Amino acid sequence: MTAPVITVPAFGSLQDGVSHFFGTKQRTPVPYETGVPAASGSDGRHVWLLSVKQVHGTDALIVDRPLSGEDRFEGGWDALVTDQPDVMVIVRTADCVPVLMYDRRGKAVAAVHAGWRGALAEIVPKTIQLMVGRFGVHIGDLRVSIGPSAGPCCYEVDQAVLEPLRSGRRDWSALLHDDRDTKARLNLKALIQQQSLEAGISSERITVVNVCTICHPELFYSYRREGRVNGTMLNGIALVSRR
Ligand SMILES: [Zn+2]
Repeated sequence: MTAPVITVPAFGSLQDGVSHFFGTKQRTPVPYETGVPAASGSDGRHVWLLSVKQVHGTDALIVDRPLSGEDRFEGGWDALVTDQPDVMVIVRTADCVPVLMYDRRGKAVAAVHAGWRGALAEIVPKTIQLMVGRFGVHIGDLRVSIGPSAGPCCYEVDQAVLEPLRSGRRDWSALLHDDRDTKARLNLKALIQQQSLEAGISSERITVVNVCTICHPELFYSYRREGRVNGTMLNGIALVSRR
């Protein structure tokens, strides 16, 4: 199985007014972690690519006006939300979970970087609330896709994760595999899926790419597997202008 990027037609397509991808090692040639929007597009369409520094927090960068080449985004954000057409918001991952969202009426899109810290701090529900509160998105119109990440087959965590998980979530035991009290394997995607359900997204509007970044060296970089950052996958979504 090789593919430059993974797309999820059941999540969204051009017919839905969005363009999205979950990246693999064969990433699209995008300048990243610059905080400077880059222009792209060969078919006459001008698409801005926006990727910023990530800090394992829960703050969202909101882009609610047209971008220009003069814009600089200096700071750290783990969610990027925009209502602007042709702005591809991008998060980078290498085991953490990329989460993409859009409103089917075209009001906004979001890309979220969720590691265990961000997930336990509820970055996904917070971003959903932001899309509803700030952009007037109806919760029933939101679509969420949870991308490739370290899976429960491989993602071992210790007390730093288990303690807040056990104290913060009643369903913690359902999220753990091979629980040995001080170590266990965490199903981070299931946690985010559950949080999305709790935030009001119905199950048929949530798609999950159940592929593990640690298990698939041919497809993905993995910080856990490689022990260092050799590279990251890019994951992005944009509202497509209807012209
Ligand atoms: Zn695995």
